[in-house]
Amino acid sequence: MPRDAARATELACDYLCIGAGTSTLGFVDVVLSASKDKTFIIVDKHTAPGGHWTMAYPFVTLHQPAGSYGVNSEPLGKKFENGRELLDIDDLATGEEIVAYYRRVMDKFVATGRVRYFPKATYDFEVKTFVTQDGERCSVSYGKLVTPESNVTVPSMRPPLFEVAAGRAVVKPVNSLPNEEHEHYVVLGGGKTGADAVLHLLKRGVPLQRLKWVVPRDAWFNLREVYVANGSLLGSTLIILDSLLQNDSSLAAFLAMERMGLIGRLDEEIDPDVMKHAIVTTDELHLLRGVQTVRLGRVRAVASEHIELERGQLPLENDTLLVDCTATAFASTRGDYAIFNPGHIRLSSGGTSLPSHSSARIGHLEATFETDAEKNAMFYLPQSAPGTGYVFDRADFIEGLYAELKTSGTFSAHPPSAKFLQNSRTEVMSMVHMTVPMIKSMSPALHQLRKQAKAFITKVEEEGWDDVPAKILGF
Ligand SMILES: Cc1cc2nc3c(=O)[nH]c(=O)nc-3n(C[C@H](O)[C@H](O)[C@H](O)COP(=O)(O)OP(=O)(O)OC[C@H]3O[C@@H](n4cnc5c(N)ncnc54)[C@H](O)[C@@H]3O)c2cc1C
Repeated sequence: MPRDAARATELACDYLCIGAGTSTLGFVDVVLSASKDKTFIIVDKHTAPGGHWTMAYPFVTLHQPAGSYGVNSEPLGKKFENGRELLDIDDLATGEEIVAYYRRVMDKFVATGRVRYFPKATYDFEVKTFVTQDGERCSVSYGKLVTPESNVTVPSMRPPLFEVAAGRAVVKPVNSLPNEEHEHYVVLGGGKTGADAVLHLLKRGVPLQRLKWVVPRDAWFNLREVYVANGSLLGSTLIILDSLLQNDSSLAAFLAMERMGLIGRLDEEIDPDVMKHAIVTTDELHLLRGVQTVRLGRVRAVASEHIELERGQLPLENDTLLVDCTATAFASTRGDYAIFNPGHIRLSSGGTSLPSHSSARIGHLEATFETDAEKNAMFYLPQSAPGTGYVFDRADFIEGLYAELKTSGTFSAHPPSAKFLQNSRTEVMSMVHMTVPMIKSMSPALHQLRKQAKAFITKVEEEGWDDVPAKILGF
């Protein structure tokens, strides 16, 4: 027994679950509903459930419709028809709504009598104990350990990632932006958080000449109107598959997706080599394009009169706020690890990085199959370059889509798992998001999707693309 554990109160459960974020709660939800006697202990560092959402900036929202985010047993969306929770592109839950949602979910879990929740407690993997908010040290004897693998870090959780000297500028995390008034603003970070901060300042009426945006690496944005056209992702999935099937290079496929209005970029002269899965509207993209961008790489340091970047310097004006949006919203969309291991379940976000749905599927596999080998065989993970998350190059994108389609295939071929998908609100293609007229009108497109998915899988396995040959993919 580890040294400190000797004096600890002993607790016991079937599943010791680390974190009360989207990944862990999505898993608990399914296993809890599927069993009558399984017990859970959830240990989380924060004061409330919701993971990084409890530390998010005040104007944050989901990128995707709320209708499929969260856990399977509790709706988050606001648009319903005949009991169906529809995917509405205008229904993006705010950070506050998401935290209230997870509070509701946790209360429901705890009310079953089978879940114990320990907020404000950090599980120490070395000594295998945690200290409750009342100061009691606890050790847990458990059947399985469940860990999120996402390592999300948002700016409010840490100091700036670079040295800052006193001078013309101050650096603050994006969270403080609504309360700050300065002569000049420089937004640091080219992802969704950076885009949100720029749009927030523009909506506040900050003139363009007082605003700059440091974009270390150009990325493709998803454009919401086409991404969720007619309340479904079916159309956008078909655009992606058609573009990849009809083009011999992945770059040409991305340019085809751009022509179809599915994705867009800040500068049409620059071919972004990555996608960060940020979703904006076409109008927002036009607003973002008007802002003066600085493309000199990442910030190295802030000196008294300039910012030192990887490839040059940016002079600073007096009274400049540097808005830290350099979030590393890592999600383990790929890994060199198995999800199911003896005594340990590692919650990967799966091929297309939707943690709500991946965790629900992992919960279903845990509740349905006996052996780790059977469970792992149902869930494909991209394998080629483990460890990174929301920044996808085009090869990552193809691998992620391949893994996702293969996983959908294994689920569809196993009737109880196919039924699970059809009834899951976290599955964007599920029938629970479609009205009867929608299902009828989409039937030819669904048929087309199955055909295209099969052709895409063959292309990945046998041919590849000029710039993403089959042999560099991790399968
Ligand atoms: C601004 C922003 C917008 C986003 N929008 C979307 C979106 O629209 N759709 C989407 O699908 N995804 C979105 N994401 C991605 C998002 O990261 C995931 O949806 C999801 O919230 C990640 O959940 P998680 O449980 O994996 O991680 P977290 O939310 O980070 O939760 C993990 C929890 O585990 C706790 N923990 C870790 N180690 C320990 C320990 N040793 N002891 C105790 N507790 C521990 C952490 O403190 C944390 O509370 C967004 C991310 C950001 C940053």
